[in-house]
Amino acid sequence: MTRNPTAFLKDTYNELVDNNWDWRPKTLEGPSTPRCMVEGKEVIMFCSNNYLNLSNHPRLIKAAQDAAGKYGAGSGSVRPIAGTMDIHLEVEKAVAEFKGTEDCLIYQTGFATNAGLVPQLVGKGDIVISDALNHGSIIDGVRLTKADRGIYAHKDMGELEKVLKDADPKYNRIMVVSDGVFSMDGDVAPMPEILKLAQEYGAMTYVDDAHGEGVLGKGAGIGKHFGIEGKIDVEMGTFSKAFGVVGGLAAGSTDLRNFALNKSRTWLLSGSHPPAVAAAQLEAVRVLQEEPEHNRRLWENTEYFIKEMGSMGFDTGFTETPIVPAMTGPSDLAVKLSEGLWNEGIYALPIVFPMVARDAARIRNMMNAGHTREDLDEAIAAYEKVGKHLGII
Ligand SMILES: *Cc1c(COP(=O)(O)O)cnc(C)c1O
Repeated sequence: MTRNPTAFLKDTYNELVDNNWDWRPKTLEGPSTPRCMVEGKEVIMFCSNNYLNLSNHPRLIKAAQDAAGKYGAGSGSVRPIAGTMDIHLEVEKAVAEFKGTEDCLIYQTGFATNAGLVPQLVGKGDIVISDALNHGSIIDGVRLTKADRGIYAHKDMGELEKVLKDADPKYNRIMVVSDGVFSMDGDVAPMPEILKLAQEYGAMTYVDDAHGEGVLGKGAGIGKHFGIEGKIDVEMGTFSKAFGVVGGLAAGSTDLRNFALNKSRTWLLSGSHPPAVAAAQLEAVRVLQEEPEHNRRLWENTEYFIKEMGSMGFDTGFTETPIVPAMTGPSDLAVKLSEGLWNEGIYALPIVFPMVARDAARIRNMMNAGHTREDLDEAIAAYEKVGKHLGII
């Protein structure tokens, strides 16, 4: 036996480093605020998903502290055995009410929701039909099923109908799954059209609203946004983005909740949220309902930034939401733009192949309700300076 069983660890890593494909996460030295300390430097944060700045909201912080004092640091168990506390149920009730669905089930994360629920909804003899640009956690959920797979070109309803028509007589269950807001381009799935086609062909609908919750529909998500709340079979979401905490959710019917909590292995076999997390989630839902100004400011900032970037000559792609790309084309240009912005005190990350197509590299700017007009103007001035220097504008 001459094999070195762990040589691949270093070899793989070195190959990533040689190609500049390795992650080198920067470290925050304090809270994730719109202006924050990152590796010894004060920067304006343009790449956090903390859309509404709720992670720093005094009510969420106090709720988390109080719950830790009252219930302890951990929940002690998985949800089905002894890890369901009254506050976990309160969150589910509040989310369902806010989103206009009959019921809701909270998972540990959004990833755990997709990975645990998708493979239970479809299996052998079924088909799951995906938008080509769906998030990796949906793709992993789909990989865990024994169901057949269909893919339609991004938001192409003609192609979706073709796949559905073909699938209808052949399969038992059919499920169409789509991101609500697409995380790289910031465009929105045509849910009413998807819903209509799905109804026509007897298919379930599953939307991943990770970037829509707290953002679309005055915070209630894509269902409310299109006036179709309660009609999508599964509205999946996360507490890790606009809600400012962590956790996943599946909102829908009580039948869905009963099914999901008995079948999802990620839910059954993994510990439940610490009480501080559940309490902060509950407070986030309340704040969203009682303080509409956070959502309003997020959209004001988004509109201003998109307008200013456009009039400077930047291509912001297909965005309709607070995810605002600054397209560069080639990857190396996106990397250089990001480095130039960093030197100007703007923390905005490049998105390059394989996350997007080779010629569609970009900086992905994430808007925040907590950005002041001065923050945005400073960022816009930095974009102008570096963009001109690099010949992008
Ligand atoms: C972030 C994200 C997830 C994962 O959510 P977590 O709660 O952070 O695990 C799932 N789907 C989409 C589209 C996302 O952007």
